[in-house]
Amino acid sequence: MACTKKHRYNTQYNNLPVDQGGVGRHRCAGCAYEKGYNDGLIRKEQLDLDLDSLPDSQAGTVRHKSPHAAYAAGYLNGVEDSYK
Ligand SMILES: [Zn+2]
Repeated sequence: MACTKKHRYNTQYNNLPVDQGGVGRHRCAGCAYEKGYNDGLIRKEQLDLDLDSLPDSQAGTVRHKSPHAAYAAGYLNGVEDSYK
């Protein structure tokens, strides 16, 4: 399953570290970010990246970006937004 969402080309992911050899390198960092953001909004306490559930990405700015970093960044933004 490959991600076809427009967030693949979102330049906000340019700053994420590259993950060339990790297990998550083919997973969509955009989807990882959204998953983290949604978990952050509800301040979820039992976190599970569940990388296998994320779509693959072979294109755009999220290609080979660390889904771990993307999830963490999304989680932080979600928690911050939960206080607004
Ligand atoms: Zn995606």
